[in-house]
Amino acid sequence: MKILVTGGAGYIASHTNLELLNAGYEVVAIDNFSNSSMESIRRVEKLTGKKIHFYEADILDKEALTDIFSRESIQAVIHFAGLKAVGESCEIPLKYFKNNLSGTITLLEVMQEFGVKNLAFSSSATVYGDPATVPVTEEFPLSVTNPYGRTKLMIEDMLRDLFQSDPSWNIAILRYFNPIGAHESGEIGEDPNGIPNNLVPYIAKVASGALDKIHIFGNDYDTPDGTGVRDYIHVVDLALGHIKAIEKLQENPGLVTYNLGTGVGYSVMDIIHNYEKACGKKLPYVIDPRRPGDIAVTYADPTKARKELGWTAERGIDKMCEDTYRWQSKNPNGYRNL
Ligand code: NAD
Ligand code: UDP
Repeated sequence: MKILVTGGAGYIASHTNLELLNAGYEVVAIDNFSNSSMESIRRVEKLTGKKIHFYEADILDKEALTDIFSRESIQAVIHFAGLKAVGESCEIPLKYFKNNLSGTITLLEVMQEFGVKNLAFSSSATVYGDPATVPVTEEFPLSVTNPYGRTKLMIEDMLRDLFQSDPSWNIAILRYFNPIGAHESGEIGEDPNGIPNNLVPYIAKVASGALDKIHIFGNDYDTPDGTGVRDYIHVVDLALGHIKAIEKLQENPGLVTYNLGTGVGYSVMDIIHNYEKACGKKLPYVIDPRRPGDIAVTYADPTKARKELGWTAERGIDKMCEDTYRWQSKNPNGYRNL
């Protein structure tokens, strides 16, 4: 079975490509390299000994998409392509709406033209806003607080409307919690541009000496140690969730929505301590004010994915930190140290 992976050179996509190839799927990937490079594709090919049919193209480019769909007999699409920096989305919202929304509309139009109606979409726990209670189930009310989140919710709404209009679509909306970690080979991992916005890539840079100290955004939340609590999920578990979603699409399920998380919440302090264990040294930190827009606590109820997909996250926080550390140690400058 041939799967098109959009945003195919990115962080989560590279791990998903690897698992797809290992599971015997053929992978066609498209990326415009706005936040990635060809090196992740090469490394996945090397790790698996298999070829990815790669196209450097933009999902906004309908002609390019049409060309790819004409050449390859694609049966399903995993749609990762998108811009994802919350802060940047507040500064340049139109770019986010154009890229994420128009890009998705263009992709859906081409899929429809070619009769390819199987789609897994990368949504996010951000669509739950500040949940009233935890753990969060898929039925919780949806709300967002920034343009990035709004693109995710708008795309979800668009997919629900599309399905209403044509129930022959099979769509898996996958709401990721906080993906971290790397493949255990240390050959692929997260490679953010510039100073990382997210906690674990930032900690990794402090551990490697590239940055001075960790800035903890607030220790006065209503949580056991006062720092924010999130559901961190190993990127390989997340990748495997996509394989289960692709299998589900083959059963013609209609439109389905799943949380992909572990169901366990860790605080910022917990993550720092676990990373210290992985790298074998103390990491300096300071307490800064809360980051605007951050919430105190969120973690998933992953029961639905377990029951309906037969999927559970198996890799614990130790492994998430160890694998991040291995990737960071082997690749201090990410994919750029070549
Ligand atoms: P990433 O930036 O590593 O991957 C996204 C890829 O899409 C990049 O390679 C980028 O170059 C590509 N891309 C962006 N716009 C494109 C376009 N118009 N045409 C072609 N390619 C384009 O990010 P990631 O962390 O792997 O995230 C993948 C998806 O998962 C995104 O949609 C993101 O919003 C979503 N998501 C990520 C997280 C997270 O914390 N990493 C959490 C929830 C949801
Ligand atoms: N955080 C922090 N320092 C950082 C980055 C993040 O203290 O440099 C905290 C943030 O306030 C939140 C948690 O770490 O409680 C996870 O933040 P991240 O940006 O990684 O993911 P988010 O949950 O915001 O998508």
